[in-house]
Amino acid sequence: MAQIPAPAQVKTKQAALVRMLGVSKMYVQPDNYDILILDDITLDIHPGEFIALLGPSGSGKSTVLRIVTGLSKPSFGTVLYRGRPVNGPNPHAAMVFQSFALYPWLTVQQNVELGLAAKGAAPAVRREKAVKLIDLIGLNGYEDAFPKELSGGMRQRVGFARALAVDPELLCMDEPFSALDFLTAENLRSELLDLWLESRIPTQAVLMVTHGIEEAVYMADRIIVLSKNPARLVADLANHLPYPRNRKSSEFIHMVDQVYKIVTGWDEDEDEAVQLTEDAPARGDRPRLRPIPYGHLSMLSGLLELVVDRGGTDDLYRLGAELFLEVDDLLPVTETAELFNLAEVSEGDLTVTALGRQFVEGDVNDRKAIIREQLREIPLFRLIDRVLRSKASHAMAKEFFNDILEEHFSVEEAERQLMTAINWGRFADLFHYDTDTELLYLADDQTGEMVPVALNDAQES
Ligand code: ADP
Repeated sequence: MAQIPAPAQVKTKQAALVRMLGVSKMYVQPDNYDILILDDITLDIHPGEFIALLGPSGSGKSTVLRIVTGLSKPSFGTVLYRGRPVNGPNPHAAMVFQSFALYPWLTVQQNVELGLAAKGAAPAVRREKAVKLIDLIGLNGYEDAFPKELSGGMRQRVGFARALAVDPELLCMDEPFSALDFLTAENLRSELLDLWLESRIPTQAVLMVTHGIEEAVYMADRIIVLSKNPARLVADLANHLPYPRNRKSSEFIHMVDQVYKIVTGWDEDEDEAVQLTEDAPARGDRPRLRPIPYGHLSMLSGLLELVVDRGGTDDLYRLGAELFLEVDDLLPVTETAELFNLAEVSEGDLTVTALGRQFVEGDVNDRKAIIREQLREIPLFRLIDRVLRSKASHAMAKEFFNDILEEHFSVEEAERQLMTAINWGRFADLFHYDTDTELLYLADDQTGEMVPVALNDAQES
């Protein structure tokens, strides 16, 4: 683990509600290859804990939730609930989804009763329970309304009521506030916290997936950070700030900054970086292609210009807040800046390098040339370049590269990697791409430049 600031086991006296012991998860891709998503995750969830699970998008946070609730099976390792192996959906757990997941043809009341019906509760009991929950969650008067008549916030209230109706010991939430507007999300967060802190719900532990660091610090008393490709547990820290939390207090800002440092800095640890990339066998003994961050180059330019204007260094957390970017959106951009040697991130601060200054001060052609030189150092681009040069037509179908990438990443991730590579390569005039024919190709002025290529940089096609 890169950085574990403080032991977070605040309630170690109590036996764990959930134990994940050495859990790994592989997904079989359409080409029958396996991709390792979760790698050896060991995690205890104790009664009384409100845990926020942070990590880059696509890292495997939802997969952890599905495994903990028994909706998905680990490929290796064990999940115990109150000491017993979890085999199948856990009846003591309930899930709240980002997308509300309500049945449009059922009323509010019927949607809330669903979980109870599945548990075999008698109709009268179901009705009474649902009415109570609807009241608790602030939706009384809307029992007979259909989801389409409700605002997003009200729909998510139904989502909460439905999950809480079954008196879950473990409440799992998958980015429950991220589809809501700012004020609605803020109201729902504090209302849910009140229910939890005042023990008005029988829930014993909460596990919430989020991509918002502030949300995690605002709500959770324990914050877990996952890495990506594959997901490993890189930080587990306690958040002892007293409730109700004031986002403007210096303690709150300090805690957010701490988490930012961990989320942005975990891969500075050499060993961790190596394990994540070339040395980690994707399958068999073949080297893995290093994943590229999917940073937009226009955002990269904007960010670097802003930081240079401010003297060359700025606090990432402040930048994120000012640009209205969640860490999920900001990180790919800062990682791209680091990959291109345009900036360095350390201790939550971003500092523009000399090359970064050249980039900011240059015109569009200078910028393209800088990015082009940087891309030539990246195995994926060397691979693309080598393939295009080796063909008489200097053209190759996107699909071909997609197939290679799918041997290293999940289908979704492979597509994202390739689209990012295509965008970068086109910007830097390293190659062209025709969206109609889906061909990558070299134009005449690009075929002449020979690039020194190390044959072992990336896997042979
Ligand atoms: P997160 O919640 O952190 O965004 P997920 O747990 O949803 O991440 O997904 C992690 C990775 O696993 C992603 O690359 C996703 O494409 C892949 N994945 C998720 N579910 C499946 C599945 N059923 N089959 C194949 N790949 C999957």
